[in-house]
Amino acid sequence: MIVMKFGGTSVEDAAAITRAMKIVEPRLGEKPVVVVSAMAKVTDQLVACANSAGTGDREAALGISRRLRERHYSAAGELLGTGVFTQFHSELEAEFDALDELIRGISAVGELTPRTIDNVLSFGERISSRLVNAAFSARGMDTSLVDSRQCIITDDRHTRATPLFDDIHDALKDTVQPLLEHGRVPVMGGFIGATKEGVPTTIGRGGSDFSAAIVGAGLNASRIEIWTDVDGMKTTDPNLCPGAHRIKVISFDEAAELAYFGAKVLHPATLLPAVQKNIPVLILNSRNPKNEGTRIAARAPECKNVFKAIAAKKRITIVDVVATRMLGAHGFLKAIFDIFDRHRCAVDVVSTSEVSVSLTVDSNEAIPAIAADLGKLADVKYEGRKAIVCLVGENIRGTRGLAAKVFGTIPDVNVRMISQGASEINLTFVIEEDDVPQVVRRLHETFFAEVDPRVFD
Ligand code: ASP
Ligand code: MG
Repeated sequence: MIVMKFGGTSVEDAAAITRAMKIVEPRLGEKPVVVVSAMAKVTDQLVACANSAGTGDREAALGISRRLRERHYSAAGELLGTGVFTQFHSELEAEFDALDELIRGISAVGELTPRTIDNVLSFGERISSRLVNAAFSARGMDTSLVDSRQCIITDDRHTRATPLFDDIHDALKDTVQPLLEHGRVPVMGGFIGATKEGVPTTIGRGGSDFSAAIVGAGLNASRIEIWTDVDGMKTTDPNLCPGAHRIKVISFDEAAELAYFGAKVLHPATLLPAVQKNIPVLILNSRNPKNEGTRIAARAPECKNVFKAIAAKKRITIVDVVATRMLGAHGFLKAIFDIFDRHRCAVDVVSTSEVSVSLTVDSNEAIPAIAADLGKLADVKYEGRKAIVCLVGENIRGTRGLAAKVFGTIPDVNVRMISQGASEINLTFVIEEDDVPQVVRRLHETFFAEVDPRVFD
């Protein structure tokens, strides 16, 4: 069997759902399980809806729900013939009535708990999976709607619930496996699940990829396809370098480094359950299904290029801490990191000398307070408008003279920090934000002038 996951933009309206159908049809022989996101932007709107209800603004919340209802009705109207639509209409109506009842309840209490947030958010995927199921079956496909709350069993850490793999595997064998054996196409919502007691949960924003990986791992899929709206991953941002190449195949570790530094396509940590079982994952474009996209494999194939990609992350602040007063005292680094920890602020790049530490963080409003706390230990300076540039590739390991070649390409650029990652597959440095376009372009010209056709397009 295979898993085919369609993200929000791949089911955003009737046209997108029709494209998705045409993508699933030729793969019916491979026994697909279809996992869908909520329609594009719906989860954001449900978040806004829950927040309005939580502050007691019932009318605003009901207004959002009304617009969602209309959007889904109009897609359903386009996708389903009159007869089917009438029957489906009442199913959809029941879902939206339940959502409205929930909204009224939240508004009346004026209190929003993580548990109720999950309940509200679950409607996005509950409804999109219903719609996709009805649309596919109206076209003659033997589909069955699977309620993800019956098989994606999680703990009760609402909004970021952790899947309970053993329970999920059992539930998938009971609910989804028999459908596949009977030649049916199970359709289910990503992102959502439920506790053992049946209380709806969500597994973190963007979680549908994770759902696809969980289902694929649980049913031993031979492949997982993640259908999105770009031709897979690129050697760099094509907005900066129109000549950026498609990466045909990348290792899981490389993809993880890239995602961390701003590649927006997907967060590969969510693919871990699949990668651990050696199931290949493909990133594909539902608007351009002939393109082969990017394959994420457990191991990278041989590649003549030293790097797979160049990523840049803007809106970075450098914090310099000079420890004149704690010179030589042990526990200095711990004291510093404790402060970042207390402010729940993640640190990216770190470089240290005997008496000083430089760190980067995403620019955020807590920085002045963090600096004030650090100022009790040491001299502190911070400076925003920086960017991290990250070169990724398994071949960094074992290539000599690489740093010289990288920095030799940009000798006139003010490089503020350098770090060669502990993973040995990234080379990272910090520059002024304004220098990003020219730095990325020059590095891309140098390192991707010729590309290995086995790995790049
Ligand atoms: N609909 C959810 C979100 O927007 C999950 C997903 O699309 O992956 O976060
Ligand atoms: Mg997504």
